[in-house]
Amino acid sequence: MTERKTFFVDVILPIPIHQEFTYRVPHDMINYLQKGIRVVVPFGKSKLVTGIITRIHEEVPTQYTAKYLEHILDEHPIITGNQYAFWKWIASYYLAPIGDVMNAALPANFKLASETKVVIHPDFDPSKNYYLTERESEIVDSLEIREELTLKEIAEIVGIKTIQPIIKSLIDKRIVITTEELNDKFNAKTETYCAINPVFSEEDLNAVISSLEASSAKAKQLEALLTLLQEIHATNEQYIPKKVLISKGISASSLATLEKNGFIVQEKLVVSRLSELTDEQSEMKPLSEAQDKALQEIRASFEKHSVSLLHGVTGSGKTEIYVQLIQEQLDLGNQVLFLLPEIALTTQLIQRLSKYFGDQIGVYHSKFNQNERVEIWNNVLENNPSKFRLIVGARSSIFLPFKQLGLIIVDEEHESTFKQYDPSPRYNARDSSMVLAKFFNAKVLLGSATPAMESYYNAQIGKYGYIELNHRFGGVQMPEILCADLRRERKNKSMQSDFTNYLVDEMRTALNNKEQIILFQNRRGYTPLWMCEICNWAPRCVNCDVSLTYHKQTNMLKCHYCSHVTPPVGSCSACGSNRIKMIGFGTEKIEDDLAIIFPDAIVKRLDYDTTRSKNAYETILNDFDSQKIDILIGTQMVTKGLDFDNVSLVGILDADMLLNQSDFRAFERSFQLMSQVSGRAGRKQKRGKVIIQTGDVDNWVIQKVHEHDYKGFFNAEILERKNYFYPPFYKIIQITLKHKDPIVLDGSSMHFAQELRTAFKERVLGPEYPIVRRIQNLYLKRITLKIEKDVSDGKIKERLQEFIDKFYSVPSNKSIRMVVDVDPA
Ligand code: ADP
Ligand code: ZN
Ligand code: ZN
Repeated sequence: MTERKTFFVDVILPIPIHQEFTYRVPHDMINYLQKGIRVVVPFGKSKLVTGIITRIHEEVPTQYTAKYLEHILDEHPIITGNQYAFWKWIASYYLAPIGDVMNAALPANFKLASETKVVIHPDFDPSKNYYLTERESEIVDSLEIREELTLKEIAEIVGIKTIQPIIKSLIDKRIVITTEELNDKFNAKTETYCAINPVFSEEDLNAVISSLEASSAKAKQLEALLTLLQEIHATNEQYIPKKVLISKGISASSLATLEKNGFIVQEKLVVSRLSELTDEQSEMKPLSEAQDKALQEIRASFEKHSVSLLHGVTGSGKTEIYVQLIQEQLDLGNQVLFLLPEIALTTQLIQRLSKYFGDQIGVYHSKFNQNERVEIWNNVLENNPSKFRLIVGARSSIFLPFKQLGLIIVDEEHESTFKQYDPSPRYNARDSSMVLAKFFNAKVLLGSATPAMESYYNAQIGKYGYIELNHRFGGVQMPEILCADLRRERKNKSMQSDFTNYLVDEMRTALNNKEQIILFQNRRGYTPLWMCEICNWAPRCVNCDVSLTYHKQTNMLKCHYCSHVTPPVGSCSACGSNRIKMIGFGTEKIEDDLAIIFPDAIVKRLDYDTTRSKNAYETILNDFDSQKIDILIGTQMVTKGLDFDNVSLVGILDADMLLNQSDFRAFERSFQLMSQVSGRAGRKQKRGKVIIQTGDVDNWVIQKVHEHDYKGFFNAEILERKNYFYPPFYKIIQITLKHKDPIVLDGSSMHFAQELRTAFKERVLGPEYPIVRRIQNLYLKRITLKIEKDVSDGKIKERLQEFIDKFYSVPSNKSIRMVVDVDPA
């Protein structure tokens, strides 16, 4: 008799721990084991969790007694080997638990699988004769009594653990269905379609038309019927969406009458959730000479470099170049990933791309529901040739299970939103995408009008290829950038509230010409600060160490760190004086002031507060695009990738506030924001104008924006970075410790920094309080590591992890929270 082998599997669990856990495989499950499938396993005292198998082996774990696998959930792997390797890289580079990486990567629906329940299929007909095995009938019998069963309950009923094949067989026979699938079906989006009643032949139809023509009372019905016929003819489809007919001026009641008379039928049909975008198709645009040259250069650059940077000014037509590159890859049967900052995803660019790529485009971002994410996931995993070969997505789309990736485009690559901060893993999608690309030998194209310092530097030293587009498409001029001198106008008392006379005059001219205006102020709310004129007291958050922002709409003082609100104060809590002044201004106040300065203009605000409801963002942008709005005020949201034809003037209301931020990226970010928002001005017919309000007209960063001189900006700023040991010369790892008691925090963080210094020496800075030293009742202390570029990254991270583990082995440190942020944005 041969000896029975005992198998074990390593499983990633959905909890924040760094290692994988080993489970023992019951004998009857052995034939179903595969890497990349989901399994349900016991964890802790009585919990069941869903994990993924990463390794199958015969090594008995030495540290603990392995528990048994509970169930197998998948027949086929849901992740690929490359993906697992990529997860491991993210986990080690960003010092994140592998469980966190899995959680970030998988759509939530996959994770809920341990809650899966099985119910009788709605089409099941008990009077019919099904062929069932004994175990299958046991399950069906139980279901008829108990209506729904969890996987665990089913396993108990049939007395074995490998229930997956049985359930699969029942699902295939259409006898049972999982509740998730059932919900999917009911969640499916339906739409009403109209069709000619199929009982009519063409002659019958002509008779119907004649009969309607005979009576003037039936003119509306006739019109509706003819419109329907026209659409059927034009689209070659039998079923026409009702909304199409309505949009052509047909009333719902005419359609209802036609249906009542039996001429047409109206039916609710399921529409694919993702098909909505693809209404019209259009041909690709022939490239201009400059675009074509850039395209050739990109191709040549990819011969030598795996990463290339396309540095093209706003409006230079980068998108049309991407389109050509995407098409080439799709023609090769490859997948393409197009990464965008989240906010740009809901807009114009998607519409443009979907006109070219139709069903090939899959949009993947947080506003989409889980079912849609799973649909995309499964299609990407199959590399389905007819669907979703082009994924356009926010940062999390780097986690999709690509099979044959040919190209990754990172548009607006300088955007800090490619970095995730909370929760862990704190990854940068732009940087990670380069590692992802390596697994497939795919190319990465970074695109920006204002590249990140790191990216431009890497292009300069020859690590990345570099392609430049210096001119706007179609000979459109770059906008004229001018400064409005806040200091002088304040002295001359020519300001109107927070507007310089200069800006007001220009706005008036634009409005008179029926041109549109964008105003940029990177602060929401009404006023950021209330302060007692006598003693400088200011209302502060009870949970955080920040002053409260006044929101006029809600008439509340609000903390932007923890959302705590309190009613506004009438007098100073310190000295009792009533002389409380408001300092600074946010988007809300600008909106208010404009109502006085330009009472006839239609003004809308685009910021976090006005876009929280679904579709609000799109609605405002569409209204602006169709010129129902004269002046659009906004935070960073107005700076991103928008393309409007009629904007002749952009106002930057407070450049100094941008420049005076304290972190090392303040100038870089200011330059980018000002240049990007300037790019919204004057895109087609005429040269746009940008007015920057500043108290410091000679500021060198503003001068570089004024001169459209990215390179000049870069050359000056890169010296600062070098002199002060910042990226791209040094890597930064920021460690934040948090505790409710500042004294405990002080001691522990001091001790931790000392420990780190034993290995990392003078590369350790701090601990020190960050600018906001308390958030949500936790005090913060920050330790910064600055590490030379040429030191082995793996070694550093390994050492650091050892120090962290050691830190937490001290019982008194267990109540301290630690956030490690590698390459902070
Ligand atoms: P960027 O992404 O570099 O800011 P866009 O791709 O948005 O620039 O192009 C700017 C404008 O020029 C858009 O309105 C776009 O439709 C138009 N455009 C760009 N390339 C072409 C082309 N080859 N043919 C026609 N129009 C083009
Ligand atoms: Zn006071
Ligand atoms: Zn707060």
